[in-house]
Amino acid sequence: MDERDLKLLQRQARRRKNELIIKCIISLLVLIVVALALILIKDVLIPELSGKNKKKPQTLAEEILAARSGQSQNGQGSGLSEKDMIAVADYMASQYDYDRAIAYLTAAESYTSSQTLQNAVAGYRTTKESCVAYPLDQITHVFFHTMIWDTSKAFDGDEDEGGYNQVMTTMSEFAGIMKSMYEKGYVMVSLHDMCTVNSDGTVSRGEIMLPPGKTPFVLSQDDVSYYHYMDGDGFAQKLIIDENGDVKNTYVEDDGSVSVGDYDLVPWIDTFVDEHPDFSYRGHKGIIALTGYEGVLGYRTDEVYRTKEASRVTKYQQKFFESHPDFDEAAWQKEVDDARAVAEAMKADGWEFASHTWGHISPQDKGLDAVMQDTQRWKDNVASVVGDTDVIIFAFGADIGDWEPYTDDNEYFSYLKGQGFNIFCNVDSSQYWVQFGDRFMRQGRRNLDGYRMYYNPDMVSDLFDVNSVWDAARPTPVPEM
Ligand SMILES: [Zn+2]
Repeated sequence: MDERDLKLLQRQARRRKNELIIKCIISLLVLIVVALALILIKDVLIPELSGKNKKKPQTLAEEILAARSGQSQNGQGSGLSEKDMIAVADYMASQYDYDRAIAYLTAAESYTSSQTLQNAVAGYRTTKESCVAYPLDQITHVFFHTMIWDTSKAFDGDEDEGGYNQVMTTMSEFAGIMKSMYEKGYVMVSLHDMCTVNSDGTVSRGEIMLPPGKTPFVLSQDDVSYYHYMDGDGFAQKLIIDENGDVKNTYVEDDGSVSVGDYDLVPWIDTFVDEHPDFSYRGHKGIIALTGYEGVLGYRTDEVYRTKEASRVTKYQQKFFESHPDFDEAAWQKEVDDARAVAEAMKADGWEFASHTWGHISPQDKGLDAVMQDTQRWKDNVASVVGDTDVIIFAFGADIGDWEPYTDDNEYFSYLKGQGFNIFCNVDSSQYWVQFGDRFMRQGRRNLDGYRMYYNPDMVSDLFDVNSVWDAARPTPVPEM
């Protein structure tokens, strides 16, 4: 190899080295560009794109939810378009809350310069002026038990069939009843719309303002515990919060798989009000009357599931422990936590809770001492999960007095009033029965079940036509009481 060859080789080596450096720089630049592009797509473009489909409705839903719970009073600072602000206000107005709808729009920054917003407000004012105060003592109150989802299981000839046939309603019947009531102009109100409890313990009349043609009613559901005896009989298993944050039921299918859906009253009403917001007065829904002895909402929350105290464990609970040998204190705590979360979600969505007594007792039959012990158990085991209430919905409809107003001589009333109860509901087949006392409100409730529909279809004709909702799967005759 001579000197020229050596120089050539050296030049070639330098050139290759330079090419390598340039290639490295280009690769590095490409990498940087790709990385920047990825960051752009991930952090800027994707949220931007999904924001177009997702962010606005979410904000709208949040606004409506905030509006329902009274936390949003104006359209300012929400960042919503005029169209969306009107959608929120329309929702409030559709639930008869015209004042809030008006306040919401008039507080918007663009209100004074926007004819659209001003026109909307003028419309709410006109509708509001047309509203009339509904006579409170003519408000009907209807109640149900847990809905029968699978009639072939509830009406299968076993020992519980007769009871289900008498006091329960099938899901298709319930849907038919609610749709009929909606078409007739019925609107769900709260017992707390009907009266106001003052700080000195007195109870005064509330005010329910509705457009002509609308009729308020109270909806309640008793014994939403999904008791052990109902297992396998075609009822929902429990109430849960699904992946969208909605309260739904679980239902155990024949193959053991668990379905999620509207298998009982609460989620059915939630779905119906989503589609027909004007079925609900200012976002208020029904009131759920709970016992405590087998837990609440399908959760085994009672202390007996923790202590397993032999003298208090029933045969059903014994069976439950046998089939759930791993049900320990931690499992019980999870039941309590889950039930609490469901109750919170329900309350945020317009539901209320009432005492149905802890042990499903008839107060006067059991005596005052038993009522005291029972009330304490309700507070310890039910109020601790679903929160306090001032409503008692008597089990068996067994009231603590006759039709005459309670007096302080009535030791049951004195005691329960002292325990914070102001509203007392019994069962009464008349169209409405409402009584206001200085320190209480009472209301009768109508059972819309197999017994009532079969024997007294005329007594529910103001609400629905039995022939058009009757579930053909129901055996007849319905057994007599
Ligand atoms: Zn009951």
